Amino acid sequence: MDSVPVLKTDLHIHTIASGHAFSTVNEIAAEAARKGLEAVGIADHGPALPGSPHHFYFPCLKFIPDLIDGVRIFRGVEANILNGGEVDLNEALLERLDFALAGFHDHAGYTGETLEDHTEALIAVMRNPRIQIITHPGNPRFPIDLERVVKTAAATGTALEINNASFVGSRHGSEENCREIARLCARFGAPVAINSDAHIAQAVGVLDAALGVVLEAGIPWANVVTRDLAAVLAFLGLEK
Ligand SMILES: [Zn+2]
Ligand SMILES: [Zn+2]
Repeated sequence: MDSVPVLKTDLHIHTIASGHAFSTVNEIAAEAARKGLEAVGIADHGPALPGSPHHFYFPCLKFIPDLIDGVRIFRGVEANILNGGEVDLNEALLERLDFALAGFHDHAGYTGETLEDHTEALIAVMRNPRIQIITHPGNPRFPIDLERVVKTAAATGTALEINNASFVGSRHGSEENCREIARLCARFGAPVAINSDAHIAQAVGVLDAALGVVLEAGIPWANVVTRDLAAVLAFLGLEK
């Protein structure tokens, strides 16, 4: 039996700027260094979610150094999916970031109601090359056609997230959807991201539950885009 692989990055982390999270970029980097991570992604909520930062915040992420405590910092956003597959940060702002996550959130402008609405909106977002990862697609609050979404991910190269927080207290009822998404990703060869969705530094790099689901599904390690820094650089097209 091979040893369990170790994840070296975590691309879904909220700072105090999200309005309902509790650590700074420096605290997050220090915790990542302590845990041996090579890189973290700062992904505060897009402006449509109450309490989240104004549009002006996102270009100012440029003030963060590339490396803090030896950890590579990627500047991103967790954008809110809006009706019609739009997101709440415009193209010009997305272009200035290293990466963009997008997901469905309540109270953030999206008014779709049916499985068909959610599936169409999500597929439209996945066709936007500025969005690289779909967050918590297993959320039962926004049911989707899992097979269509996974096939689209394989076709567009958009990664589907297996979100650790969905197994430890957030988005109750996600577990079985997440396992099915992982099985479908293994079957159709779709890229997968394993992230913490940390809202405080202590949760950075806490990925065990999501990793277990990915391994159990038999997803090839090469399809886990967050496995290490080199993989993230290649996936985001940031290699020099
Ligand atoms: Zn989210
Ligand atoms: Zn999040």
